Amino acid sequence: MRYDYLIVGSGLFGATFAYCAKQAGKSIVVIDSRPHIGGNVYQENVEGINVHKYGPHVFHTSNEEVWKFVNQFTKFNHFELHTIANYKGELYNLPFNMNTFHQMWEICTPEEAEKKIKDARREAKELLKFDEPRNLEEQALSLVGRDIYKKLIKEYTEKQWGRKCTDLPSFIIRRLPVRFTYDNNYFNDIYQGIPIDGYNKMIEKMLEGVDVMLNTNFFDSNDDKPNCKNWRNFADKLVYTGKIDDFFGNCYGNLDYRTVRFETEIINKPNYQGVAIMNFTSHDAPYTRIMEHKHFEKFGNEVYDNPKTAITREYSVEYETGMEPYYPINNDRNMELYAKYKALADKETDIIFGGRLAEYKYYDMAPTIENALKTWKKHMIV
Ligand SMILES: Cc1cc2nc3c(=O)[nH]c(=O)nc-3n(C[C@H](O)[C@H](O)[C@H](O)COP(=O)(O)OP(=O)(O)OC[C@H]3O[C@@H](n4cnc5c(N)ncnc54)[C@H](O)[C@@H]3O)c2cc1C
Repeated sequence: MRYDYLIVGSGLFGATFAYCAKQAGKSIVVIDSRPHIGGNVYQENVEGINVHKYGPHVFHTSNEEVWKFVNQFTKFNHFELHTIANYKGELYNLPFNMNTFHQMWEICTPEEAEKKIKDARREAKELLKFDEPRNLEEQALSLVGRDIYKKLIKEYTEKQWGRKCTDLPSFIIRRLPVRFTYDNNYFNDIYQGIPIDGYNKMIEKMLEGVDVMLNTNFFDSNDDKPNCKNWRNFADKLVYTGKIDDFFGNCYGNLDYRTVRFETEIINKPNYQGVAIMNFTSHDAPYTRIMEHKHFEKFGNEVYDNPKTAITREYSVEYETGMEPYYPINNDRNMELYAKYKALADKETDIIFGGRLAEYKYYDMAPTIENALKTWKKHMIV
């Protein structure tokens, strides 16, 4: 069969575009190199627990259109992300707010906290004698001062990047929001939650009526399946959500990524750490954080209904070819390289490039959907 669209990638960009095209009466085939749909939001059910296989995913948005769009496919629970930082056994609430300041300095009022932060910033600047921060350490010190930097930023960031903060550029931390309210909610968005039946069901509904071929890599040569050489025999248009440098045969060189490795363990306890995400902010722990997946979906005593729990330790590692490309590194080298690939992409008239890998950009889920909806609308007008 010949299709109107071949979509490479069944993640949120591909699935949103596929849904819009299907609603407009188009025929679509989606291929994905993985053995499942959903891209990075995919969850694996282990011991009755939805494990976020490619990292914890909390849906959050203030965009009414996107919220309405996703609610066609699923309802969301009332999960709010309240992260705990563990520094050598001392626990702090994140993001930085009155609870954190109370735990750090035993102060109680916003006025006391504002004074502490102001004094800490001044002290850091005087001590280091800098006007403009020259590296990430100076930048963080100038924003939140020594105590918060030492316990909650320094070693965590060094684990994330595999480099000393003094060797990292200041632009990595442009802002460090501080709240002078007792508010542990990580996100400021109006809507937040996890799909009631999990992300997989949501994506399945988005792809209802669409042909899907799994274990199908666009760059493999297999005449029976669409690939980079023969796709025009299968479809009129291509929507590509894979890596943009791969699409052009890496002709200008490889784009760099930072990646993470996950180690999941089933534990014979109903409740391991009492919270969905705990960040480990000292070098004592080799991992950056531990996710306990049941806390995304079970609340209060429901946690004890299952005598087991699933935890995942996340390790930050240097990216090498063949690994999962998670986070783009938006430094000058990569942005120049991406601009060259983008110029090639802009010349293609029957190919749409979209999503985090094709646009070499970190996107949260809601902006990915928003972007796919916009791309579809724009495409329909042209
Ligand atoms: C660790 C981590 C945690 C995150 N947490 C959150 C969060 O809490 N909240 C939030 O809003 N967002 C979060 N995100 C962002 C979220 O994952 C992305 O916004 C979303 O996955 C982007 O969807 P996408 O379709 O662009 O890409 P993807 O989900 O990566 O989908 C791309 C798909 O294309 C397929 N593909 C690629 N190349 C080929 C090929 N050559 N042939 C065939 N198929 C191919 C891949 O297998 C994949 O299925 C997180 C991201 C990471 C990395």
